[in-house]
Amino acid sequence: MSTALAARTVEKETLSFEHVAMPQRRTGECLIRVDAVSLCGTDLHIFQDDYATDLPIVQGHEICGTVVDPDPDADLPAGTRVVVDPLTSCGACPACRTGHANVCPSLSVLGCYGDGGLTEFLSIPSPRLHRVPEGMTSDVAALAEPTSIAMEAVTRAEPRPGDVALVLGCGPIGLLASVALTDLGVTVVAADIDAARAASAQSFGADAAFAVGPRFPDAAQEQTLAELTCGAGPRIIIEATGAPASLQNAIRLIAPAGRIVQVGISSAQASITVKDLTDKEIELFGSRNSRGLIPDALALLGRHPQEAETLITHRFGIEELETAFRTMADRSVPTGKIVIRVSPEGGAAQ
Ligand SMILES: [Zn+2]
Ligand SMILES: [Zn+2]
Repeated sequence: MSTALAARTVEKETLSFEHVAMPQRRTGECLIRVDAVSLCGTDLHIFQDDYATDLPIVQGHEICGTVVDPDPDADLPAGTRVVVDPLTSCGACPACRTGHANVCPSLSVLGCYGDGGLTEFLSIPSPRLHRVPEGMTSDVAALAEPTSIAMEAVTRAEPRPGDVALVLGCGPIGLLASVALTDLGVTVVAADIDAARAASAQSFGADAAFAVGPRFPDAAQEQTLAELTCGAGPRIIIEATGAPASLQNAIRLIAPAGRIVQVGISSAQASITVKDLTDKEIELFGSRNSRGLIPDALALLGRHPQEAETLITHRFGIEELETAFRTMADRSVPTGKIVIRVSPEGGAAQ
């Protein structure tokens, strides 16, 4: 019987490369060959056994592959390159029934709560497969899932052309949110505690980039913000760091009646003054996963191939997965997105 390679995280920071039984295509599904999987902070937490999931698990939820055994009832012939929507929800709870399947209490994410994409072949329900636009590399297409998360945060902000948005945190989600916002005609100011990371936001459409120091904003930054917003402050703030101090900055800087979208994740406690919320009638929104935005994410990446390519700083073969995680964990190495080439053919555009 033929087998497929799978990289399983068996215990904290320990991988096992296994030859598992070749998966068979199930009814209503396509069998795909996995080409490229990009990694995010969640993956590192799982690898370090610092996440709400039990090991062992095959990780990988940002997946691009190629259909090898198609579903006869779907319009995805063999050879079609696809991105996988990793979410499954119950479809029956109040959240699911009101269009919020992304926060279903029974939500499952491939590679986070069940075996995922760091394996050669997967059988995936056809409705969760989205065609990769022609000319896009599989490496870039794998970024559709994190891009959809950035777009969900932007959608939650309900931006209008001419708005000014402050994006706090210039990691991949903050940078992708900057691209999505500028695409909608929003003026973006991006900020990060790392000056180089903040500066990089200007290649992602940001009109101004602020290094966050002990006093934020400093006098010059304050003047820039005032000029851009007629003294009112930004109407939108996307908080993409998860740091309590950053949420506090957001509450302080948001314009009256403005909206803060919290997309950065953390288990830390943030202390806020209740009155700050009422005084400015602040709208404080959470944002998690995305609601069916993978096709929109692929379209956004297609409009901004250069930015997408810039986000990818490292590529490794699946056999180098441990090195990839160590690179991510090493704070002295600036990393954007790390792409794992699962199949040797992966990465190419067609
Ligand atoms: Zn992710
Ligand atoms: Zn549900």
